[in-house]
Amino acid sequence: MSATTWRKRAACRGLDAEIFYPGTDDEADAAEAKAICAVCPVRQACLEHALASREREGVWGGTTERERRRIVRQRRKSA
Ligand code: SF4
Repeated sequence: MSATTWRKRAACRGLDAEIFYPGTDDEADAAEAKAICAVCPVRQACLEHALASREREGVWGGTTERERRRIVRQRRKSA
């Protein structure tokens, strides 16, 4: 799915971007964004985009930056 396609279907489309850039990587700060991502129909495409482009900040695909680093490490191990 191209970036344009999945972004059009994003549950966060039109919402305040600040929700997705919480002050810290803490679970409590990221909770609102994660709740929106949890029901987003393009969550997987969004996560893969964030992993591929090494997005350092914000919640993407329901994950914080710390969680994305963990996913990258796990994928490296199983590659
Ligand atoms: S998974 Fe979250 S950040 Fe990604 S498009 Fe959906 S709502 Fe937005």
